[in-house]
Amino acid sequence: MSDNLSAQQLLRIRSKLETVVNEQPGTRQAQSADAALQRMRSGEYGYCVECGEEISAARLAAKPDVALCVDCQVLKDEEEDA
Ligand SMILES: [Zn+2]
Repeated sequence: MSDNLSAQQLLRIRSKLETVVNEQPGTRQAQSADAALQRMRSGEYGYCVECGEEISAARLAAKPDVALCVDCQVLKDEEEDA
């Protein structure tokens, strides 16, 4: 588990994610939030799914379902733009 988030921040993020899953079932946002909740359960939350780098607390707070670090996000955005 990422240690750059406090337990309190983590709780707040989890409840945000659960709200999205409950209120917008079937949407991409809900799928993404659900995946984040699963990573939380398995202790992988807060790490980039591509490279394993820790994702900053500020980034997680701004976008709780984020699965990629900034570097990997840039690469992915470039791929999608191409
Ligand atoms: Zn990464």
